[in-house]
Amino acid sequence: MAPAIERRRFLAATALALGGCGPWTRRRKDADVIVAGAGLSGLFAAMELVDKGMRVVVLEGSNRIGGRLLTLDGLPGRPEGGGAQVGQSYARIRYAAQKLGIAVIEDAPAAREDRLLAVGEQQVLQSAWAESDLNPFPETWRAAPPDGALFAVAGPDNPFTAPSDWRAAQDRDQSAADYLEAKGFSEKARRLIDVALNANRLETYSMVNVWRTLQLYAVDATLGRPGDIEGGSQRLPEAMAAALGDAVRLNAPVSAVSADAAGVAVRAGGRSLQADFCVLALPFPALGAVALDPAPTGPQRDAIADLPMTQILQLHLEARTPFWETDGLPAAMWTDGPLERIFATRDRADGSVVAFNAWVNGAHASELDKLDDSALESLAQQEFARLRPASGGTVKLLKAVRWTRSSYAGGAYMHFAPGQAAAWAEPMARAIGRIHLAGEQLSYLHTGMEGAMESGQRAALAILDSAA
Ligand SMILES: Cc1cc2nc3c(=O)[nH]c(=O)nc-3n(C[C@H](O)[C@H](O)[C@H](O)COP(=O)(O)OP(=O)(O)OC[C@H]3O[C@@H](n4cnc5c(N)ncnc54)[C@H](O)[C@@H]3O)c2cc1C
Repeated sequence: MAPAIERRRFLAATALALGGCGPWTRRRKDADVIVAGAGLSGLFAAMELVDKGMRVVVLEGSNRIGGRLLTLDGLPGRPEGGGAQVGQSYARIRYAAQKLGIAVIEDAPAAREDRLLAVGEQQVLQSAWAESDLNPFPETWRAAPPDGALFAVAGPDNPFTAPSDWRAAQDRDQSAADYLEAKGFSEKARRLIDVALNANRLETYSMVNVWRTLQLYAVDATLGRPGDIEGGSQRLPEAMAAALGDAVRLNAPVSAVSADAAGVAVRAGGRSLQADFCVLALPFPALGAVALDPAPTGPQRDAIADLPMTQILQLHLEARTPFWETDGLPAAMWTDGPLERIFATRDRADGSVVAFNAWVNGAHASELDKLDDSALESLAQQEFARLRPASGGTVKLLKAVRWTRSSYAGGAYMHFAPGQAAAWAEPMARAIGRIHLAGEQLSYLHTGMEGAMESGQRAALAILDSAA
């Protein structure tokens, strides 16, 4: 269909939803700005706009506030299903928390705990990994565990000295697979590193992501240890939403947005709302499902469709027997089997192990996402019986958290594949007329929670600029 006809049909459909009148002319606007998404980026954009006197409506598609912040309140140890660590350099997160009376508690120094590493049917303590026959890493890097090796190797090579350096780094934009191969890591060694990679595959993970993250870690480390939000990460977006009062509407999935010189019309849950501007504070997989008029073009369209999202699936499990006391081995594990990494969830007061979190990244997470909860529980039972016979496999699935294509987020967080950062970083963040974009994938400086806040603030400032 020709774009002009498509646009006319969209406007006609919107007019129908409005009861037959033209989209911009005969109805009073519902807000100055409509924000889609009640995660950190959307809520911070809304707070900044309200602060400057704008009338804002926030439309959240799901039935809860917080997006990729998800505190599992009912589970033993109250684990986080999503974002947890607040870096010292997270200025906007800390500012919002302070403004809303929420404390950020600095983490106590982590006690050095051993882990059990399971390669195939063989096992070794992490403390003995450097000398183990199972270890295929080159001599210089034998002390690094499989899930720490990439960052350990890349650290000394980091070409970035400032948080924005990644935006002009075409010459360093190679895949992590090529980088490790050049450093002498065999295919077998790379396969072990790939298991719990914080992305989907070494081949599609640009080193720009690694050095960008390491540069941010380095800045944070000079300031002190990271912290946690008191009571759980989700308390912050909940407080932000509460401060916005009845502006936030749940169960209102945005399905279409149309903009012209006069304003925007946003369709959500069978209703159409009008405003001067909108902010779509959505992860790209969710944004790609929203019909936009005008539609994004060129590299922006490509980025919305194809920007990789790290797939993560977590199985929060309860063990019926304290098998780590029976077999005398560390509770936590790294495995090259389907459960990948198994973290011990500890009681916050006494540090005792109260549950487990099997944390699966990348291609394995996409595979496991095809299973229902009961099949996931059976798989966990088989794996615990294999890895820790003393457990008898008697683990119970308390909750599966799916940060996968099947969720509202489409994944846990963005990363760039080789070649994408230089081509997409700038165009993908552009406003489309009166439609502004936000979300962690669009931050220039930070990543994660602070990146989400940064992107929301940028969208709000751009709107305030054009409205002035
Ligand atoms: C497992 C995990 C661990 C993490 N760990 C950390 C960490 O330790 N430190 C850190 O800084 N960051 C961490 N992060 C990243 C951090 O949580 C995110 O970067 C941040 O919360 C993203 O906020 P956002 O506003 O960009 O997106 P989201 O939080 O995803 O918000 C988007 C919102 O839009 C809603 N939505 C989607 N589609 C529609 C629609 N059509 N209409 C209306 N609403 C819609 C969603 O339901 C969601 O509420 C982690 C993330 C995960 C998943």
